[in-house]
Amino acid sequence: MPDKADAVIIGGGVMGCAIAYNLAKEGLNPVVIEKSDIGGEASGSNGGGVRQSARNLKEMPLAMESIRIYGQLHEELGMDVEYVRAGNMRLCTSEEELATMSQSVDNQKAVGLELEMLDRKQVLEINPYVGEKVIGASFCPTDGHVNPFLTTYGFFKNAKAHGARFYTHETVKKIQLKKGRVTAVVTDKNRFETDLVVNAAGIKGRDVANMVGLDLAMRPIFSEAMITEALPPLFKQMVGHAKGLFYGRQTMHGSFFWGGFVGTEQFIYRDGKPLFHYIGPAISRMVIDYFPVLKDLNVIRTWSGLIAGMSDGIPVLGVTEEVPGFIFATGFSGHGFGLAPVIGRLISQLIMDCQTQISISDFCYSRFHEGADRECACKKNGACTTLTAVCPNKRQWLKTI
Ligand SMILES: Cc1cc2nc3c(=O)[nH]c(=O)nc-3n(C[C@H](O)[C@H](O)[C@H](O)COP(=O)(O)OP(=O)(O)OC[C@H]3O[C@@H](n4cnc5c(N)ncnc54)[C@H](O)[C@@H]3O)c2cc1C
Repeated sequence: MPDKADAVIIGGGVMGCAIAYNLAKEGLNPVVIEKSDIGGEASGSNGGGVRQSARNLKEMPLAMESIRIYGQLHEELGMDVEYVRAGNMRLCTSEEELATMSQSVDNQKAVGLELEMLDRKQVLEINPYVGEKVIGASFCPTDGHVNPFLTTYGFFKNAKAHGARFYTHETVKKIQLKKGRVTAVVTDKNRFETDLVVNAAGIKGRDVANMVGLDLAMRPIFSEAMITEALPPLFKQMVGHAKGLFYGRQTMHGSFFWGGFVGTEQFIYRDGKPLFHYIGPAISRMVIDYFPVLKDLNVIRTWSGLIAGMSDGIPVLGVTEEVPGFIFATGFSGHGFGLAPVIGRLISQLIMDCQTQISISDFCYSRFHEGADRECACKKNGACTTLTAVCPNKRQWLKTI
């Protein structure tokens, strides 16, 4: 006997859990299928950076709203997610970096972000531990960081409390269509009848799109991270390299998280074979260079993760004309964790009411598949959400049952 679900969400990362939570709160009966553990992929391996700064400007309205939600998430989820809003500092060591950063700061301020350039003296007033080579920085005071495990767990726990069902260690193999519309999701253990599928499969978002004959300009990007032993509190900001080569923070319990891409050009391949374990030392060397105070700290664990990198660096969100009932929430390109609370809300709003509080038309699937001289189908209609033929409109549907 096939199971039934109002919506099947593929992927139990932070996005799948946040979407399930918001949908279940609205009265739907969503099912989340996760092939490993909840938060077992990118959502459990990331740095927890929650930033608006240094994003593609198209994402800025989403990031700003997400930061607002993060500010009250502990109340909404009924648990501490270790959210710290103490700023994000991107450190510059040359005039060239300062000039590039300055230009970027101006662009971001023009879309309403509170952001400033600091000279070395101002940097030291906020963070006295930066090394001598740092001559300035950008600083966004409303950025911050969060504990990614607690946040993902918080959405999961609350989604369950509102009636969402989770199936872990179960893999979606197939999405069935009838006359082009979604009718069921087949896993290695079950079959779920549904007219709505959300692709929240992270790095596997492309494979899931392929299941319904769609494709995404997505590729995996390797990223390594590490955690050190703990020290008493030194600083609260998220800090990072001007060009993003490394980034990190001190966690609530005192360990330092560091991640990045530094050194990958020199070290990642030898004779065509990847040498991943060289990246950790390369990040460490750079961190010590920028924060000499940490030079004797032991690294206690390193790991790697894959980023769902879109060719244009921004996610794919919303419905598509090609396959009614198929909704994208994937391709967050290495900075999705900061967006999770707002994505949960927007995808839920889209499913329930066919409109979102912030336009998601810049993120539509058809941006990749229409001629450059043609307007995106979503934009033609004002917003993705007005594609009425494929609009789920679940609130109307709920009234009829
Ligand atoms: C090392 C690293 C550091 C990062 N640092 C930051 C940061 O500081 N700040 C920030 O904002 N972002 C950061 N990110 C990015 C961030 O982690 C992601 O954007 C975010 O977690 C994406 O969440 P998700 O739910 O879309 O994907 P995931 O967490 O990857 O979840 C997708 C889930 O789908 C499941 N799945 C896939 N296919 C199937 C299938 N067929 N059937 C069932 N389940 C399936 C997977 O098992 C997975 O659990 C970082 C990423 C990495 C790797």
